[in-house]
Amino acid sequence: MTGRNDLVREIKLAAMALISTIKCDMCDLQLPTGAGGHMYVISPTGERVVCPHPLEEATIKRVTKLDWSAARAKGLLGHISDCVCFECSEQFNLDVERDVKRCPKCGSLDVRTANASVGASCPKCHEGTLISHAIGVS
Ligand SMILES: [Zn+2]
Ligand SMILES: [Zn+2]
Repeated sequence: MTGRNDLVREIKLAAMALISTIKCDMCDLQLPTGAGGHMYVISPTGERVVCPHPLEEATIKRVTKLDWSAARAKGLLGHISDCVCFECSEQFNLDVERDVKRCPKCGSLDVRTANASVGASCPKCHEGTLISHAIGVS
């Protein structure tokens, strides 16, 4: 399941490393998106270890003893996204390519990534709209 498309996607993600946050324009709901998620590497014990940017490669090496392309070839790299449940407004991380999109709190399948929820009506107050704000680096 890895290959050219993955690579293209990662390059795009790197280019889009904008810091932004998504907020409801009516209530206090806020989705801390950062760059929209994190890369992770699967450890030998099956744990997902988040690779903080820009030290992804160092983390991959530490966890797997492999370099980036070898780890990718073994399917050990993935990407988790910030997600929100549109049923109960719970926020959590999912690998949308591998995990079932189901809320860990209420079990609803009405789950979207933070990025995909921009412009949707707020799952908390059901009145406002979710709007993306860029955050200045200060
Ligand atoms: Zn839920
Ligand atoms: Zn709201």
